[in-house]
Formats: sequence, C-alpha cells, structure tokens
Amino acid sequence: MKTLRNFAGGRWQDATGGFATLYNPATEEAIARASSEGVDFAAALDFARTRGQSALGELTLAERGKLLQAMSKAIFDRRDELLDLSMTATGATRKDAKFDIDGATGTLAYYAALGESLGNTRYIVEGEGVQLGRTAKFWGQHARVPLAGVAVHINAFNFPAWGFAEKAAAALLAGMPVVLKPATSTAWVAERCVEILVAAAILPEGALTLVCGKIGDLIDRLEAHDVVAFTGSADTALAVRSNGRLLAANVRVNVEADSLNAAVVGPDCEPGSETWNLFLKDAEREITQKSGQKCTALRRVFVPRSRLAEATDELAVRLAAAKVGNPADQSVTVGPLATAEQLKAATAGIKLLRGAARLVHGTGERTDGIGAPVGKGYYVAPCLLRADEDGGAAVLHEREVFGPVATLIPYDGDARKGAELIARGGGSLVSSIYSDDEEFVGAVVARGGAHTGRFYLGSEKMAEQAPGSGVALPQCLHGGPGRAGGGTELGGLRALDLYTQCVALQGSRP
Ligand code: NAP
Repeated sequence: MKTLRNFAGGRWQDATGGFATLYNPATEEAIARASSEGVDFAAALDFARTRGQSALGELTLAERGKLLQAMSKAIFDRRDELLDLSMTATGATRKDAKFDIDGATGTLAYYAALGESLGNTRYIVEGEGVQLGRTAKFWGQHARVPLAGVAVHINAFNFPAWGFAEKAAAALLAGMPVVLKPATSTAWVAERCVEILVAAAILPEGALTLVCGKIGDLIDRLEAHDVVAFTGSADTALAVRSNGRLLAANVRVNVEADSLNAAVVGPDCEPGSETWNLFLKDAEREITQKSGQKCTALRRVFVPRSRLAEATDELAVRLAAAKVGNPADQSVTVGPLATAEQLKAATAGIKLLRGAARLVHGTGERTDGIGAPVGKGYYVAPCLLRADEDGGAAVLHEREVFGPVATLIPYDGDARKGAELIARGGGSLVSSIYSDDEEFVGAVVARGGAHTGRFYLGSEKMAEQAPGSGVALPQCLHGGPGRAGGGTELGGLRALDLYTQCVALQGSRP
C-alpha cells in the first residue's frame, strides 16, 4: 500500500503514525494511507514565511508567471499517469479525471499568461490613478503588494488537482508561498502533483508545502499576514471561520462551500428548440459529470408548469443512458462516489428530498456497478426527482445532496418568481437561465443576481460553444454569497486580491 508523504521545510517527511486509509471507491480496495503526524507545523510555516516568501518576493510578476507555466507543463507532461491515478484514487471516469487534471494545467497556464502580461514589476498598479492636488504633480494611485505571510489552502475531495492549481496559481502569482492541505480521501492525486513539481525543481524553496492527513493545529499557528482559502462543507467552513486564533489575528479567510445551484427555464423555451435541447444536454451533464460531486452541479431545475411533463420525460430518457460502474471499464460513464461517508450522506439526502418530491428516475439507493465486485463500491445511479407544488418545499432549496441528483420544480414562468426561487437556495455558486427572451433574462439577472455568484445564460446563440454551467473558468469569478460561503476565487486578476495588500500611493506621479 502506498504511504503518502508530507513536503514541509523543503524536504519530504514521513508521518510517524495516526494513518488514515484511502480506498479505491470503485472496489473498496485499500490503496494508500496518509497522515501528518510528526510534522513540525511551526517549523514548516516559518520556513515558508521566510524562505518561500522572500524568494517569491524577489521575482517579478512575469517571472512568477513563468513558474506557473513550468508547473502547468510539468503536470501536463504526466497527464496520462495522473489520469490513471485519478481514476483509481478518486473513482473518476477518464472523462471526469480530465476535468480535474486538464482544469489544473489550463488554470495554471491562464495565470501564467496573465503574469507575463503584467511584466517586470513586483506589484500590481491598479487603474490610472487620480489627481489629488491643484495640478497633476500630486497624484494618487493604488497598488497591490503581496501579503507577508503564507496562504493555507484547504481543499475538498472532489477536485484534488484543479482545487490545488486554481488556488496556488493566484497565490504564487501574487507572491505568497502556499501550504496545501488536500482532503485526505483523495489526497494521493494532489501528493503526486506536488511530487512532480518538486522533482522538476520549479519553485523556490519554501514556496510549496504539502500536508497530507489531519490539519492538526496548523491554523492555530497562523498570523495576521497569512491567508486561509477553504473549500469544503458549510460545517467545516464554520469551524474554520470561528477559529479563535484566526479571529484574533484578523487572518483573511475565503470560503467556498455548499451550493444548491439552479436552472430557470424561460417560458419562451419551447420543447424541441435549440435552447430547450441545450437545457437538456446541460442538465444531463450537470447531474452525471463527476457523479454529481461538483460544487457547481445542478440541484434545482425550475420549469414552467406547462412544460414539466416533457422536461421530466426527456431528462429521464437521457439519464437512463448512464452506465454506472468502475471507471476501469471503458463503457462506464458515471463512476462511484468518493467515499463510504459520501455514499451514506447522498442516500440519506435523497431520502430526505423524497419527503418533498417524487422520484421519477433512479432508486436513490446504493447499486452494484458495472465491472465492480458485487456488493462493493460506492455507487448511486443518477436520480431525478419532481416536486408537484409550484416552488417546492423548503428542503429542496436547503439540502445539498452531493451526488448525481437533481429535482425538477414547477413554477409559473414569471421572471420575478424565477429569481425568487434562485434566492431560496440561500446563496449559490451558479444559476443558469435558458431563454432567448432578453427581457426575461434581464429581469431574472437583476432580481436574482444578489443570490448567485455567476449566471450561465443558455440561449440558441451560444449553444454551439457552451461548455455547461458547471465549468469554473479562470477568467470569470467563482464563488457565491450566503450558503456558498461568501468567497471569491478566479475571475482573472481579481483572484489576487485575497493574497495582496492594497496600498494607496500619494505623491508625484512618476
Ligand atoms: P469537508 O469535509 O468540509 O472537508 C474539506 C476540507 O477541510 C478537507 O481538506 C478536510 O480535511 C478539511 N477539514 C476537516 N476538518 C477540518 C477542520 N476542523 N479544520 C480545517 N480543515 C478541516 O468537505 P468535503 O467533504 O471534502 O467536500 C464536500 C463539500 O465541499 C460539499 O459540500 C461541496 O459543496 C463543497 N465544495 C465546494 C466547492 C466550492 O468551490 N464552493 C468546491 C468543491 C466542494 P480531511 O479530508 O482530512 O478531513
């Protein structure tokens, strides 16, 4: 069995005990173990703050961009190996594994190019500035300089490579060293990425630290200039946010948490139209991709009551084509959930939703998977539920089931109502609107925008190029208000705000 290692203080460190076992979710075979016991967190943080911080601070943004480019290439060069590992260690199908691994290299490459475009400067100048004095001799300007600490990145289990890369790209480009804490259950993929980067000797010493296993008292050791970027469940987010040390030292904390993402089908969206077909294609993908274990996956689908029957039938037919099983079998299109706990939480969640909606496709129970031993593997086939009452009961808007599950909910087709229903999720990462009626779209955006981090506007004009609502593109903001954590990531240069101090400069313009 593989033993994952920690990379701290510039060297690989074996844990001294307290190992958690990692399983192949497709077969339940024990494949690895991980622990951080014995790692000296104080020394690791000190090494990162001193060596890593000063080395990165010496580099210009263009030079940091070059580091990201080299990271992207090093991971891409091992793409096949990482895809195989992702399939074994996370239960992803090859297609789903690409989503994670290629998402990582693509995001690093995007921020690499952004860094190079910012040129030979160590800080970012914001905007054109403003005249403060009688003449332009006294000028005001804002600039962003790196925070003088470490960026602790705590990630969820579902994107061990992309989650690492999207956070690290922004922090490293800003000039902050990274301490990566991947979710233990799928940490092998993140550990292998770090191994590849360390072997390629791309980053300066101290710029990257890896903690596999429990985070222990690491965040109790953070200081005012450090940052925590957390992705995971709302419960853990609350524990992190309310950590006394982080509160006392005013450590910046960014949270990406749960989300009940919504799709609103406009009243103009006729069955058979291009926009309707886009809606069905996207909905199918958003329910089945990564077995629904995406923070951006679709959970609530608002359909005008008059179209509910067609939406139910057509979506159920599409979901019936899913082949659930072991990703090692090439016919499989939907893999298992990542862990036994996730399986338990998903089936319990579906049971709860069934109190408020009818199951119209799937069973909501564990099933055997194609190519997997009987009784083994954390499989749930795609599930579609349908509410009868307009707007649906509260639980449908409040319980995130992290699996291949969505609920169709009827509404009257009014834009105001569509926006209200989006809002009932308490804050989401992404909401989609399927309509070619600009007035309808504008009205939902204006009223619903406060409750979602991103709108994906599905229409016949963009249908051909649309990647689906679940893709977090580095150019656009990722994050959402309320339940979704209130954080922001990505969004081009905006991502660097978390890792930089904004400084006002007042003086002569040159
Ligand atoms: P989780 O159980 O909350 O774990 C998230 C991370 O927090 C893991 O690395 C975990 O480490 C760590 N952790 C656990 N206890 C901690 C503590 N007391 N202090 C600091 N860190 C701690 O979440 P998950 O099951 O991995 O992920 C599923 C959830 O994440 C879903 O609800 C999903 O919506 C959300 N998610 C959100 C986004 C987004 O961008 N908004 C993206 C992906 C997932 P261990 O694994 O070692 O326990």
